[in-house]
Amino acid sequence: MAITGSCFCGAISYRIEGTLRDARSCHCSNCRKVFSGQASAYALVEPEEFSWVSGKDLLTTYEPKKDVGFQFCRVCGSTLCGLYKGNVHGVTLGCAQEDLDIRLSKHIFVGDKAAWETLPDDGVPQYEEGSPKNKPEDI
Ligand SMILES: [Zn+2]
Ligand SMILES: [Zn+2]
Repeated sequence: MAITGSCFCGAISYRIEGTLRDARSCHCSNCRKVFSGQASAYALVEPEEFSWVSGKDLLTTYEPKKDVGFQFCRVCGSTLCGLYKGNVHGVTLGCAQEDLDIRLSKHIFVGDKAAWETLPDDGVPQYEEGSPKNKPEDI
């Protein structure tokens, strides 16, 4: 079964012929801005398993640093995916279908959380910075 996702207005949609992995929530100040919330909710995807179904022309790309970017809907503003070296690297879980068979596996950069955030007491490992296996492109 393919995984699907879409933006708030519905104009942009995608499908993934595969699985998501390494779902994480990053509490750093950059992710607060990118995700317009207290943290990211994001999982990795194999670029070749990902394809846009509709609305690709409505995507806007923002690359805050070399090789790392995000794509969002220019109509409704939903952030749909992250890019690494121009390829889709992962998807925002808020825009993925709601019945995903995946759970967050880590909270990262909790040392940089917003003063107003109360960290969840959900039993999921929390790391002050990146988790031990984080790569530089981790979001
Ligand atoms: Zn939209
Ligand atoms: Zn972050």
